[in-house]
Amino acid sequence: MDFEFSPEELDFVADVRRFIAAQKALPDAADVMAPDREADSMLADSPARRAFNRRLAEAGYLGMSWGREYGGQEKSGVYDYLLNEELASVGAPLIGKGVGCIGKTLIAHGSEKLKREFLPRILKAETEFALGYSEPSAGSDLASLQLKAVRDGDDWVLNGQKLWTTSAHFADWYWVAARTDPDAPKHKGISVFLLPMDHPGLTVTEIRTMGDHRTNQVFFDDVRVPGDYLVGNANEGWTYVCEALDYERFTMFTVGPIRVKFDALLELLRITRRDGVALADDPLLRRSVARLAAELESATMLQRRVIAAAMKGAVPTVEAAMYKLYSTELGRRMADFALDALGPEGLLRHDAPDAPAAGKWEHSYRATVVDTIGGGSSEVQKNIIARRGLGLPLR
Ligand SMILES: Cc1cc2nc3c(=O)[nH]c(=O)nc-3n(C[C@H](O)[C@H](O)[C@H](O)COP(=O)(O)OP(=O)(O)OC[C@H]3O[C@@H](n4cnc5c(N)ncnc54)[C@H](O)[C@@H]3O)c2cc1C
Repeated sequence: MDFEFSPEELDFVADVRRFIAAQKALPDAADVMAPDREADSMLADSPARRAFNRRLAEAGYLGMSWGREYGGQEKSGVYDYLLNEELASVGAPLIGKGVGCIGKTLIAHGSEKLKREFLPRILKAETEFALGYSEPSAGSDLASLQLKAVRDGDDWVLNGQKLWTTSAHFADWYWVAARTDPDAPKHKGISVFLLPMDHPGLTVTEIRTMGDHRTNQVFFDDVRVPGDYLVGNANEGWTYVCEALDYERFTMFTVGPIRVKFDALLELLRITRRDGVALADDPLLRRSVARLAAELESATMLQRRVIAAAMKGAVPTVEAAMYKLYSTELGRRMADFALDALGPEGLLRHDAPDAPAAGKWEHSYRATVVDTIGGGSSEVQKNIIARRGLGLPLR
């Protein structure tokens, strides 16, 4: 049993750290890298963020696990994971949607036209995507989605609504799942389309989450999509959606921000005094923080199990559910602990002059709740573990 990465993988990590150190010296660094930021608020657009992504591309960090014929390097997916872990630890944008979900699905199922049009742009970080899966009545039960796509000559015409589309307000292209056969069983009548986000039939409106994260609802009013922007075959979209989620496994799970949060928690205990005594000397708080340290180690090991299983070619559904459940709930427990330790003052928001740690923990308390919902709620992860991992009956 070896929990360490190989010498080549460690060399790669050192290389990424040199890249990040060079980025930190640039004038726009503070706009792009903010390790204290909650992970879900990294998704705002800015010229600095786009420039950072282009520099990632120029350094050869995008599409590392793609085939060479598509401009990739045929590296194992573990390199995408190691890269994201380093990026997440400094609060930088992660690689994900374009390279993982959309790029890899197009490589596996897309037409030559779609490959030629999108893959080079993904590799150069020229295109931002939004993912349109969830709807008002289809979140956890995604296969119930109702956005309607009807054939009209060579085109498809889309009507309906999506909900919670993160980055719809700045993305260039929309990757959308729609119902193309309402009479088929619900998993069978779904197709995936690509459409420009500035299509006149789309209306994007803002939703603010309790964690200050901007997400959106998107309304479709006779959105006409040419037939060659259908991804793969009609009515086989559910397979593509599930595969796309599998491709994300290497890139979406980072433990780095939780480690950064834990270090900030230790610092908080060291520098905060109550009645003349440092919080770090309080036996109850010491006991609780020691438990959190053990839990952080557990989260790291659960995460390694996801990566190890995926590297052996398995689809680590149960391992990923365990890690998602445990790590996002751990983030919440850390924020809860910080607020308990700070007492009533901890509830002050960042704009209050006396807010401890500039309101970081109050914000974390709200934002970590959102982490337990996005990408599949904690209850849904528990269902996966119960059913697929423990063989308990479906309820
Ligand atoms: C910040 C954020 C960003 C997001 N970004 C995107 C995005 O870019 N694109 C996109 O398509 N979606 C996105 N989502 C949507 C996300 O995937 C869904 O919110 C999530 O899957 C839950 O679906 P829902 O909100 O419809 O809740 P529901 O499915 O309605 O669930 C409501 C509650 O019921 C519980 N529940 C549901 N089913 C079960 C069950 N079978 N057993 C037990 N409990 C159950 C849930 O755990 C939850 O507590 C985002 C969500 C958030 C919060």
